[in-house]
Amino acid sequence: MKYDAIIGLEIHAELKTKSKMFCSCNNDAQGKEPNSVVCPICLGHPGTLPYPNKEAIEWTILLGLALHCKINELSKFDRKNYFYPDLPKGYQISQYDLPFCYDGYLEVNDGTIKITRIHLEEDTGKNIHPAGKNYSLIDFNRGGTPLIELVTEPVIENAAQAKKFSQRYQQILRYLNISNADMEKGEMRCEANVSVQEHGKWKYEGDCQIKPIGDYKLNPKIEVKNINSFKAVEKAIDYEIKRQIKAIEDGEKLIQETRGWNENKAETVSQRVKETSADYRYFPEPDIPPIKIDGQWIEEIKAKLIELPPAKLKRFQEEYELSPDDAEILVSDKKLADYAEKVISELRAWIDANGDTWERQKKKLAKAVSNWLLSELFKHLNAEGKNICDIKITPENFAEFICLVYQGKVNSSAAQQILEVMYKQGGDPTNIMADLGLEQIDDESELEKTIQEIIAKNPAQVEQYKNGKENVKQFLIGQVMSATKGKANPKKVTELLKKHLAG
Ligand SMILES: [Zn+2]
Repeated sequence: MKYDAIIGLEIHAELKTKSKMFCSCNNDAQGKEPNSVVCPICLGHPGTLPYPNKEAIEWTILLGLALHCKINELSKFDRKNYFYPDLPKGYQISQYDLPFCYDGYLEVNDGTIKITRIHLEEDTGKNIHPAGKNYSLIDFNRGGTPLIELVTEPVIENAAQAKKFSQRYQQILRYLNISNADMEKGEMRCEANVSVQEHGKWKYEGDCQIKPIGDYKLNPKIEVKNINSFKAVEKAIDYEIKRQIKAIEDGEKLIQETRGWNENKAETVSQRVKETSADYRYFPEPDIPPIKIDGQWIEEIKAKLIELPPAKLKRFQEEYELSPDDAEILVSDKKLADYAEKVISELRAWIDANGDTWERQKKKLAKAVSNWLLSELFKHLNAEGKNICDIKITPENFAEFICLVYQGKVNSSAAQQILEVMYKQGGDPTNIMADLGLEQIDDESELEKTIQEIIAKNPAQVEQYKNGKENVKQFLIGQVMSATKGKANPKKVTELLKKHLAG
């Protein structure tokens, strides 16, 4: 029997606003003493009143617009009631039936994933369980941090697509500069709803409603939590799909529950039977009036939208004819994409000034930029655990470097030496080339002189070549290259050597 996986994602991300969601506490608790960035409001003391953070609301709407969502004209906050030690009020201020954003989508490479809603809420504190102790500690610094929750429709078909969606979403949060979205730091947290269905017994109604056929009952969905990396998104979902298929085939009864991903054991473990929304007794937050979002406000927010990864990815492939893989890596980080594009635009100006046409040269040059940037430069950056922000090479100098290679003024090994110096101290590649004495020898009379010397020094090899042992030529080329300390133009050496050996 064949099965289909049905996956939906719920992704939380902390906004990096200056202050918290409903009070003026500093929202950056990084490195601060536990419980030092708190006030009576975020600690939920009786008699205090929350006042919403306008920037957090605008960023939520901005994100919604970036993801093609509709924006509710009237939105409101609601209380989600539950008891947990890290939630001092006994309820979380969240959004229930009128989220800021709904009905959007995000393009990933192999499809369009529909987004059900994006709402804004407050984060909870953090429980800390010291090893070997019989007590727990609570740090409320995180309590009240603005938290956006994105919920997708259950239309994701496999674990790899779920991972890709999460990665693309992180890129967008970072492009918009509204969240650091670092999964290892808990700034972005993924939960997956996973179920499997026997093939052919259910169908989509409209775009994404799952409708059982006949009296067939849908299998319950399982929510998987504690997913702390993109790798874990993929591994946890894959594990859960296999587990559920096995349970069905073994005749076990699946129940709707929450399971936690255990990274060390690489398995999911049952945590609790899933609550339904009725258990949370949602009701409108009485201390915050509903929020009206008019067209003018939306227009003001829309003006802040920039080009985002899905569009940039398409444009890089169309405009520069970059391969999908190269474009994907360049676009993954806005600073990297901006850097590459500045280099390319310098090259374009140079091509235009030198009487060639950009259309004819762009593919070759953009590919050269991407290759030297992603393989050679990143080799140095990665070795020191750095990123594109740490780079000392200006786009102008990097473009000039590409020109030197493109014009054949240096060969590949000399280019690597020049780039290494540029990486360490920045500077003009033409000057570095001159300082290191690396300019390629193109002068034919100079090359011929060296070739004649090598021929004179190696009569035995020349004899072998003339007797038909063609591969001796490689040895002689090697001798010329070494006599010129690697600076000879290898193409010219090959041509000239052939001519002299024939003569
Ligand atoms: Zn506070």
